[in-house]
Amino acid sequence: MSNLIPDSGSQLLIGGKLVPGQGNLFGNINPATGEQIGYAANAGPADMDAAITAARTAFDATDWSRDAGFRAACLRQLRDALRGHIEELREITIAEVGAPRMLTAGPQLEGPIGDLGYFADLAENYSWETDLGIASPMGIKSSRRLRREPIGVVGAITPWNFPHQINFAKISPALAAGTTVVLKPAPDTPWCAAAVGRIIAEETDIPAGVVNIVTSDDHGLGAQLVADPRVDMISFTGSTRTGRTVMAAAAQSLKKVFLELGGKSAFIVLDDADLKAAVSYAAFGVTVHAGQGCAISTRLLVPREHYDEAADIAARTLAGIRPGNPDRPGTVCGPLISEQQRARVERYLDSARAEGGTVTGGNRPDLPGYFIEPTLVAGLPNSATVAQEEIFGPVLTLIAHDGDDDAIRLANDSPYGLSGSVWGTDPARLRTVVNGVRTGTLSVNGGVWYSADAPFGGYKQSGIGREMGIAGFEEYLETKLIATGC
Ligand code: NAD
Repeated sequence: MSNLIPDSGSQLLIGGKLVPGQGNLFGNINPATGEQIGYAANAGPADMDAAITAARTAFDATDWSRDAGFRAACLRQLRDALRGHIEELREITIAEVGAPRMLTAGPQLEGPIGDLGYFADLAENYSWETDLGIASPMGIKSSRRLRREPIGVVGAITPWNFPHQINFAKISPALAAGTTVVLKPAPDTPWCAAAVGRIIAEETDIPAGVVNIVTSDDHGLGAQLVADPRVDMISFTGSTRTGRTVMAAAAQSLKKVFLELGGKSAFIVLDDADLKAAVSYAAFGVTVHAGQGCAISTRLLVPREHYDEAADIAARTLAGIRPGNPDRPGTVCGPLISEQQRARVERYLDSARAEGGTVTGGNRPDLPGYFIEPTLVAGLPNSATVAQEEIFGPVLTLIAHDGDDDAIRLANDSPYGLSGSVWGTDPARLRTVVNGVRTGTLSVNGGVWYSADAPFGGYKQSGIGREMGIAGFEEYLETKLIATGC
């Protein structure tokens, strides 16, 4: 395994030092083989406490929060150092996440590393102060200045599906803004975070305590981070269920909560669309990284009169994509992250059958690891469990709609509102549908919204706030208004 991970296991980064942590090590499993590939440091509560102390001290007692030029230089230095280890990081990401190799050229690795440059530029060029001019509220002439300042200590809690993308979608804007960070990654993917911690400690000038990385198999450490009053903000990505718990717990210390949660996005095919192109694109989409993406469109809404034809196209497309070794360059559909996750997907397929649906695919291929075949669920209404709940597997649910208004209604008949797609040819109809769907990102005819400057986030129970872009950067800022009598 990569030189970034010693045989004795990965380490924590606390107060600028790489440390083993107080707990035992915990095993790291390759989901494509089911085999243990090594160990990660298993932090305990005292380690989390030390990490929060270090982040607090770095924020309160150093110039980090006041020196945007230095921060920009550190972000570029980190980007370059990461690029110097890109093949080791790729190896870790494929082995630990089960991420298809081809995705590491984009959002699974190289994308978020490149995005550090975008946030460095933002730190340098952002208008930290705005002159609001002179006014005379209550008859007192005052010159007003609006100042943006970093929010303080950020607790970042992340899931396992796109660990680099999500870790950096928090670390990069948080550092650009001048906050300090305690990152608590998911127990399934400790090495992606630990490798970054090691590079920060050994190859950058990022001051001690500015970034702390605490890996653990104990979800309780996330809860500890949320509860600690020394933390000013929680930036959380994960399931809606955990997000709810995080928000409730954060209320005790009234800290800011930023949430990126689950999705059940709709792919709407209008009756003037190229049915074959649209349906096969949608079916392909749910197989990417075995459907373990919050923004994947997993409900396919097709005109009722084309339902059977769409089912046939989707089933054939899904059957043509064989799950396989993520290390191979051509693999799109790798394994699910764990046996537990595979069992969860299978329970959803059982629920679809029990509710009267037809399930095509969904078997376990003859492979080691946690693979499942891409699957089509047909014959169910939008109220079915598989259409309402997030499955997080390569499962497409096909639903009939009765025209554009009905498609909008069905797309919005969901607790979620994270992403979605619309396919058609008439620009006026497309615009009406786009405007009608309540969701944070939307792709039209295959357009791609993912980039550093594009804010991403959810309506409804898909989250609160936006990640990436200027909006994502400003999540980490406070606003101070200064009025000077004149
Ligand atoms: P999860 O909610 O189980 O865990 C996410 C993180 O929260 C982990 O680090 C976990 O240790 C931590 N955690 C668990 N309980 C906690 C608690 N009580 N307090 C604080 N932290 C706690 O999610 P997961 O299974 O790791 O990831 C899959 C989920 O993430 C899916 O629902 C997916 O949609 C969502 N997700 C959302 C986005 C987005 O940007 N909207 C992106 C990726 C994944």
